[in-house]
Amino acid sequence: MRTCAGCRTRDAQSALLRFAVRDEAPRLVPDPRRQFPGRGVSVHPRRACIVRAAKGGGFARSLRSQVAVDVEALCALIQSGYSARIEGLLMAALRKRAASLGSDATRAALRDGSARLVVLARDAAGRRGEVVSLAERDGLLVIEHGTKSQLGRLVGRDELGVFAILDERIASELATVVSLAQDLSEAE
Ligand SMILES: [Zn+2]
Repeated sequence: MRTCAGCRTRDAQSALLRFAVRDEAPRLVPDPRRQFPGRGVSVHPRRACIVRAAKGGGFARSLRSQVAVDVEALCALIQSGYSARIEGLLMAALRKRAASLGSDATRAALRDGSARLVVLARDAAGRRGEVVSLAERDGLLVIEHGTKSQLGRLVGRDELGVFAILDERIASELATVVSLAQDLSEAE
């Protein structure tokens, strides 16, 4: 159990993100693997808690030193860590061939019940509405990630608008990271 330096609530260590001071600057950085030496500070990975820890002096108190905290830069760093994890999980699904690529294959996977989660490019058009309503009917999560050309690059195509993840574990890890990313971007 740790106390969040923002909202002062006690919570399980796994629910809190550790921050540590790195290098000369000094600069406060997220330390999700709790690997950086020295004094750290635990804060819920939520925008509201990070803002409170910065403005209310929670970071400075826990670190026992004054450190300039740029909330926007800190949130951007955490967010890019989440993006990298999402990308890694998508790649893992593709490597395991636990993905159905394109709208026909995705709709087939939704119909036969093998889809566990649907990934949509932000600029996907076409049969987007049909895919989303099929997924929602089965209570499956639809996540938006990247553009058609960015998703295409992952699989060696020019463009990919939609694909279904078929692996249960990868889908549940993706859902966790996506919900963390949402908590972080939500306004106070
Ligand atoms: Zn908190």
